Amino acid sequence: MSIPPTRKLYWADPLRRRFTARVLWRQEGERPAVVLNRTLFYPTGGGQPHDTGRLGGANVLGVEETDGVIVHYLDRLPAGDEVDGELDWPRRWDHMQQHSGQHLLSAAFLNLLERPTIGFHLGAETVTIDLPGPPPDPNEVARVEAFCAAIIAENRPITATIVPPEEVSQWPLRKPPTVDGPVRVVTIAGVDHSACGGTHVPSTAAIGSVVILRLERRGKETRVHFLCGGRAWADHRRRLAVTQTLAGQFTTGLEDLPAAVARLRDDYERTQKALREIESQWYAAEAARLWAEAPVLSAAGVAVRLICRRLPAAAPFDPRRLLMAILALGGCIGVVAREEAPARWAIGRSADLNLDLRQLLPRLGTLPGLRGGGSADLLQGSIAESGLNALFDLLPAVLREHLDR
Ligand SMILES: [Zn+2]
Repeated sequence: MSIPPTRKLYWADPLRRRFTARVLWRQEGERPAVVLNRTLFYPTGGGQPHDTGRLGGANVLGVEETDGVIVHYLDRLPAGDEVDGELDWPRRWDHMQQHSGQHLLSAAFLNLLERPTIGFHLGAETVTIDLPGPPPDPNEVARVEAFCAAIIAENRPITATIVPPEEVSQWPLRKPPTVDGPVRVVTIAGVDHSACGGTHVPSTAAIGSVVILRLERRGKETRVHFLCGGRAWADHRRRLAVTQTLAGQFTTGLEDLPAAVARLRDDYERTQKALREIESQWYAAEAARLWAEAPVLSAAGVAVRLICRRLPAAAPFDPRRLLMAILALGGCIGVVAREEAPARWAIGRSADLNLDLRQLLPRLGTLPGLRGGGSADLLQGSIAESGLNALFDLLPAVLREHLDR
């Protein structure tokens, strides 16, 4: 399509929010789109996401630039050849704060630590730059942040200049430009010159603040997560809400929170250790008590105890572990079940008995809703909670039949 390049009003006046323009081209169908003679809508590029807003009553869903022609993707086509456009200003302002803050932060890393920026990503929530090498230490991070804060406080102008190709070499650019022809240079007075097509706040004070959140090691590079301006403030509010809630729960001051959490963790670990000890004692003691009280089934001259135990659903004990403690005592068959829907049951025999429990399955299988299976020394399965009584009633008779064989 032979459409002239779109005039970039967002370069001429990055603080403007409304404009009118002429429609030069329109696309109907699945993905309605228009090209205008001029626009305030920034197209995705240079790490900065596109603008959104309204164009001739339609919503702007995407903005892309190809060879200087900017295409606006819309939810429907606007009527008429003249359209009014209005930016979603909070979104654009946020992007400008983050992008200007990124230039400042990248300049700080380069000027103070000789660490160039090799990547920039401005997402809906996160903003990152990538640096070569391992993460800087906390001291270095503090110096970089302090530098940014000072430049912000000095309210230095941020300006853009279109530099003709023959003059580009005279500019001390942070990194070489990636385009041929004229280069747009964004300058933070006295701090940074960068080749950049993005939109920027007019001076450093409008960045508000630059806060480094965390450093992420990625192979031989470091990803620096940071926030500027409104995002930094919102993040601060969020963190404040969390720390204040925690400080309230621990009834302590902010500075004492880490120590309070460490104490709680120590207490917890000590309690867990004691609990594990007491638990083992309980399983052994409960098994011994049940064994002593259990009825003895007559079994061709051998005394075999049938030990049954039902645990309430809420009991903090493991039925399998109790069963193992019972079977360890020898000369017994243990049955444990947890009263839940459906009830889980397990039947085991001690190693000194010669009985294949699988022989019980045909009789047990006559109980309505019983499911289960297993090996010679252990069966397990489930049954409707209401069927537990029937299972426990049936077992002595079934066992006697098989033991006496
Ligand atoms: Zn830039």
